[in-house]
Amino acid sequence: MSFKVPRGTQDILPEQTPKWQKVESILRDLSRVYRYKEIRTPMFEQTELFQRGVGDTTDIVQKEMYTFEDRGGRSLTLRPEGTASAVRAYVEHKMFGAPDQPVKLSYIGPMFRYERQQAGRYRQFVQYGVEVIGSADPAIDAEVISLAMDVYHSVGLKNLQLHINSLGDKETRDAHRTALINHFQPSIGEFCSDCQNRLEKNPLRILDCKVDHAHPLMESAPKLTDYLTEESSKYFEKVKEYLDVLGIEYVVDPNLVRGLDYYNHTAFEIMSTASGFGAITTLCGGGRYNGLVQDIGGPEVPGIGFALSIERLLLALEAEGIELEVNDSLDIYVVAIGDEAKKKSVELLSSFRAKGISADMDYVDRKMKAQMKSADRLGAKYVIVIGDSELEEAAVNIKQMESGNQEKIQFVELVNYLLEHK
Ligand code: ATP
Ligand code: MG
Repeated sequence: MSFKVPRGTQDILPEQTPKWQKVESILRDLSRVYRYKEIRTPMFEQTELFQRGVGDTTDIVQKEMYTFEDRGGRSLTLRPEGTASAVRAYVEHKMFGAPDQPVKLSYIGPMFRYERQQAGRYRQFVQYGVEVIGSADPAIDAEVISLAMDVYHSVGLKNLQLHINSLGDKETRDAHRTALINHFQPSIGEFCSDCQNRLEKNPLRILDCKVDHAHPLMESAPKLTDYLTEESSKYFEKVKEYLDVLGIEYVVDPNLVRGLDYYNHTAFEIMSTASGFGAITTLCGGGRYNGLVQDIGGPEVPGIGFALSIERLLLALEAEGIELEVNDSLDIYVVAIGDEAKKKSVELLSSFRAKGISADMDYVDRKMKAQMKSADRLGAKYVIVIGDSELEEAAVNIKQMESGNQEKIQFVELVNYLLEHK
C-alpha cells in the first residue's frame, strides 16, 4: 500500500519552506507597522457560523465546505475563510467595548475548501487576512487596500492591477436587486440551476457565476454603480480620494461583485497581470461588510477586510521570475578525522550554535573527501578540518569557501572570528 497527499493539498518541502517563512515574516512585519494585531482562532467552527457569516447562497457554503459531525453529534466545519471566525471572536470577547477603536486584526493560517483542483486552487491553502471592525471612515478602506498592495510590493511584484467598485448601501442593493430580477427573469431558463436559485435569493450573485459568465445578458445587466445612493457615491468618492493621496492606482470595475454575500460599499481585488500566470489572476479580495457583525449576534458596527493566499502570491512571484532572498545559509561545516577530532567537533558545534552561528558536521561516517563535498553542496561559508595535528596545536585553518582563503585560528577564537566574519 502506498500513500499520497490528499487531492488538492501539497507538502511544502524543506527546500520550499524558507520562501514561505520569508513571506510570512514580511506579512508579520507589515501587520506590525500597520498595527493589525494577530488573532488565532480554531480551524473549525460550528457549521452555522459560516452559513450565516459567509452566506447560504455562496459557492463556499453550497459546495465547498468540509463539514462533519463530531462524536457529540455537533455539526462542525473546517474554516473555509477567516472573516466569520474573526467576527465571531470579536463578538464573543466583546471587543467592541475596548477603549481603542476600531479593532484591527490580522490572521494567517490554513483554510479548507472542497474545490476542483487546478493551478492556484487548493483544498487546503494558507490565507493572510485583516479585519477592521468599528469604523466606517473611508480612510480606513484606503488603509486596508494600501496594506494589501504593500504585501505585493514588499515581495517585489510589479505587474499588479487594483480593481475597485462600490456595492452601495442597502437602498442601493434593493433597487439594483429589483432591476436585476426584472432583467434576468424572462430568460432565467437559459441559466444554470444555481443562477435560477439565486434569482430570488440573491440575484447579485448571478453576475459572479462561473458557468454563465459569457451569457449576453451578463454584459447588459443593470450596473450597481447606476443605483448608488448619493451617500454611497460620496463614500466611494472619498475612498478614491484617499487612494489618490496614497498614490495607489486603481481601475473602477463595475462588474466586481465578489463572492461573499456580506459585502457592501467598497469591494476590491488585486490581480496579477503577469503573462504566464494562467487563468486565475486574482491574488487578493476584500471589501466592506457593514451588517455582518450584527448577523453574527453582535452590535451594529461596520467592518472591512481582505484575504489573500500565500499560494497565489508565490505563483505570481514565479510568473514574474522573482526569487525571494531567503536566509537558510550554513555558516560553517566541521570536518572531523578520527574519534578525538569528532569529540572536538561536537563541542565546537555546540559553542557555535550557542552564539547563533549555523553549523553542521557529518553523522554518517563519510570519508574526508565526501565530507568536503557535502560542505560544498550545503553552501557552507566556512569549513574547518580537524585532525591530529589541529588537536595538538589547538588551532585550525579556517577556509572561506568562496575565495578559498585560509587563516589559522585558535579553537578558542573561532566563535569570535565567525561572529565577525560570517
Ligand atoms: P476565486 O474567485 O479565485 O475562487 P474567491 O472569491 O473564492 O476567489 P476569497 O474567498 O475572496 O476568494 O479568498 C481571497 C483570496 O484567497 C483569493 O483572492 C485567492 O488569492 C485566495 N484563494 C481563494 N481560494 C483559494 C484556493 N482554493 N486556493 C488558493 N488560494 C485561494
Ligand atoms: Mg472561490
